[in-house]
Amino acid sequence: MGTNKATSVNGNQKLHAFFQGAVVPMDEAKVSVTTHALHYGTAVFEGIRGNWNEEQGKMFIFRMREHYERLIRGCKILLLDIPYTAEQLCDITVELVVRNGHNSDIYIRPLAYKSAEVVANLKLQELASDFTLITVPFGNYLGTDILKCCTSSWRRVDDNMIPTQIKSAGIYVNSMLAKTEATLAGFDEAIILGQDGHVSEGSGENVFMVAGGKLVTPRSEDNALPGITRESIMQLAAAELGIEVVERSIDRSELYLADEMFLSGTAAHLTPVVELDRRPIGTGEPGPVSTALQKLYFDVVVGRNPKYLHWCTTVVPQAVPA
Ligand code: PMP
Repeated sequence: MGTNKATSVNGNQKLHAFFQGAVVPMDEAKVSVTTHALHYGTAVFEGIRGNWNEEQGKMFIFRMREHYERLIRGCKILLLDIPYTAEQLCDITVELVVRNGHNSDIYIRPLAYKSAEVVANLKLQELASDFTLITVPFGNYLGTDILKCCTSSWRRVDDNMIPTQIKSAGIYVNSMLAKTEATLAGFDEAIILGQDGHVSEGSGENVFMVAGGKLVTPRSEDNALPGITRESIMQLAAAELGIEVVERSIDRSELYLADEMFLSGTAAHLTPVVELDRRPIGTGEPGPVSTALQKLYFDVVVGRNPKYLHWCTTVVPQAVPA
């Protein structure tokens, strides 16, 4: 992902972006070096997946409205004034996905940001805001189907340092320090503890464990982002597998002793963790609950489970010549 210059799809067609209120070629969507968000991380964003269903020739955008509701909550906290409702943001997104003519899995990245071109001003109330949106082809984010994780030496920020219930750009410095440390040490992902030593989350994923026959995940008070994938998996586990789901604080050593562990997130989907700090989790293979939930989840996100079609927005791309 990191080095890709994602401005074209299918080789010959230019990708477009929604920028300053209009759909424009992505390479024309440029901001000034004086843009406030570039200097201070004053932005909130979302990561939304469009999952391509090859048999049906359709894109299924997963829980788009919930993502935009979280974006709007972030705008409220950071005093980002954008002139769109969640509904309008959904419409803009569908229009852009159609316009870009994708026929593979995509990542949809809306960004509400302080667009003011001003160098030294820390008063959010004085800074103009704008909204932009891009859609790019996107495959397996973690680059692996099973994860070997380490506990990070970095701690998750607390909600009274930077709000943890929203996806503000600046807070991702914390995530990146943890992810970089983990991957430089040869692990796939970091498990980040909070200041009090309880498990909070991964660098871009929520954490689950199966223990005592229950599915357990940290509470939002443990400063984990209230993930939309997390919430979907909690519903699927209870409704489809009849498993009791518990939100509570989790100690580090509980993860070592768990029967199963997995991470969830828009980019990460549901990915089993088979090792933590060089200790196998359970048998050291993906467990039965993780495997069953993963199968359910993958059917749901590509529109194959009629019971959960209301979670998906169906889009039929129509490639428009550039
Ligand atoms: N935690 C963090 C820090 C994240 O960036 C993400 C990805 N948005 C998640 C958890 C998972 O959230 P979601 O399932 O809504 O993508």
